[in-house]
Amino acid sequence: MKAAVLEKDARFLQIKEVERPALAAGMVRVKVHACGVCGSDVHLVLHRSMHAKSYPRIPGHESSGVVIEVGENVTRVKPQDRVVVSAGTSCGHCAACKAGRENLCPEVGVLGFDSDGSFAEEVVVPERCLFVFSSHIPFEQAAILADAVSTPYHALRYAGNIKQGDTVAVFGCGGLGIHGVLLARALGASRVFALDVEAGALSNAEKAGANEIIDLSGKSSVGKMNAGKILKEKGGVDLVVDFSGYYSNIEESVRAMNPGGRMVMVGLGRNPLKFAIPATLIFKMISVCGSYGSDSRALPELIDLLEKGKINLAPSITSTHPLEEAQECIEKLENRKGNPIRFVIRP
Ligand SMILES: [Zn+2]
Ligand SMILES: [Zn+2]
Repeated sequence: MKAAVLEKDARFLQIKEVERPALAAGMVRVKVHACGVCGSDVHLVLHRSMHAKSYPRIPGHESSGVVIEVGENVTRVKPQDRVVVSAGTSCGHCAACKAGRENLCPEVGVLGFDSDGSFAEEVVVPERCLFVFSSHIPFEQAAILADAVSTPYHALRYAGNIKQGDTVAVFGCGGLGIHGVLLARALGASRVFALDVEAGALSNAEKAGANEIIDLSGKSSVGKMNAGKILKEKGGVDLVVDFSGYYSNIEESVRAMNPGGRMVMVGLGRNPLKFAIPATLIFKMISVCGSYGSDSRALPELIDLLEKGKINLAPSITSTHPLEEAQECIEKLENRKGNPIRFVIRP
């Protein structure tokens, strides 16, 4: 089969013919129809700041396709089923996996990093990684559920415990944060603030339904005011979700949080996360937690939201490309050329 392969010290994908992956018991062969290009592919291929478990490796962790062959003992899916392939991999038998919380599994991994992924004509995964969807969802939209949409969904719904009427602040409106804005509205937020330094990202956030756009670049009328002060003046927030990984505004944002507020960290950053005002955390009973990827509770709920038309992912698909353009898409995502949300590969 044809695949995009990353060699150990390369900073580029090579399109080549590789062996079809073997099909063991409990595994399913999926013909890949769509696979999104994610920021972590930029880190894996261009920056080499993220690493695959071994090389050569086929990246691609945000995919959908059609089941073409099932291994022994597979019961959940059958050939012809249209499926979302979850981005996370896990052991499948620990207490966390049995509870549908695979992102807490001690063996948690990522498709395309810890095993070969979907920048290929076929991918083979355990049946528990597959979620069936109906025929009217386009493959591109189903594909991005696997990470770009499910990661913010998990952060809002399961880590952040979003409630009807909450005010929500989304820091960082790239590929994940933009869906944080969209989903916060779909999950009943009364007001969503979108904060970023990039004009293009803020414009995407506005289209996704943000009620207030807050430009933190220092170029706007609010100038160098800190995010916390702005949010406080606007009436405070119940839920803060950080996709930016910068953290510099996060400490101040605690001051803007309403009693019982929740702060969820999703973006990975290098700056220390400090709270100089612990009394505020205590008196207001504010929770701060992390959220990593998603789990098997989230994906069926998201498929349902999409099938019922409660979220519109059409604007998230910036463009579709053949496998041969995977490298070019990763480079365009790095440069943010054309203000992309998701480039999708159609192998
Ligand atoms: Zn990703
Ligand atoms: Zn497990």
